Amino acid sequence: MFTGTPFTFATGMSKKIIITIDGWSSCGKSTLAKQLAKKLDYLYVDSGAMYRAITLYFLRNNVDLDEKKEIKDALKQINLEFVVNDKSRLSEMHLNGENVEYVIRDLLVAEKVSDVAALKEVREFAVAQQQKMGAKKGIVMDGRDIGTTVFPNAELKIFMTADIAVRVERRFKELFEKNPNITIEEVKNNLEMRDYIDSNREVSPLRKAADARVLDNTQLTEKQQFDTAMDWVHERVKNI
Ligand code: C5P
Repeated sequence: MFTGTPFTFATGMSKKIIITIDGWSSCGKSTLAKQLAKKLDYLYVDSGAMYRAITLYFLRNNVDLDEKKEIKDALKQINLEFVVNDKSRLSEMHLNGENVEYVIRDLLVAEKVSDVAALKEVREFAVAQQQKMGAKKGIVMDGRDIGTTVFPNAELKIFMTADIAVRVERRFKELFEKNPNITIEEVKNNLEMRDYIDSNREVSPLRKAADARVLDNTQLTEKQQFDTAMDWVHERVKNI
């Protein structure tokens, strides 16, 4: 599932825990997760990349989302792997041996991913792999159901949120660099649609776990957000 050289930064914290980061689309979950993983020398797993890669496969192969057999057969053909890029030191999503890290960020994938991620078969497929990756702890995973379904016993659960205007602005900047034709309305509609589907689906809807700590970063800099999360990590590790 994971190949390449992992991060190597010493922290002096020998007790490894599981950190889950859930929340609304474009809240900065992956930014925080990457920073924590780097600092703690933990594995970082972007669970959304898995749902995006599955969606890309479904789109390319015209999988009918109403046909259970088609979905199951398609999943049997999918091999997902995170490969650490030796230059950037970040893990990249590979679908059946192809690096799809860039293409899965496209709006075409974003428009379909929440429908695909709502399917029970797809969730079972992804969650089983995610749970294996966390078996040895020392992992930061971000997504929508990580603290509720994937790792309900995680030692530290963070639920991130931010004002919609701030989230739209952030995602727009990111997407505009790749596609200057994109509009703010398209980005806003996509975020709202995904948040709606993600929080209203039957299987593992996006929810704050009862024992999650809320991090609203509307007014926070990246550094303030990171410092807050690191305080929570230290507190949690001390009390194990
Ligand atoms: O995190 P990201 O925005 O890349 O996730 C893309 C989509 O994948 C989400 O909008 C959601 O539909 C789905 N997802 C999910 N469960 C996760 C992670 C992502 O349903 N744990």
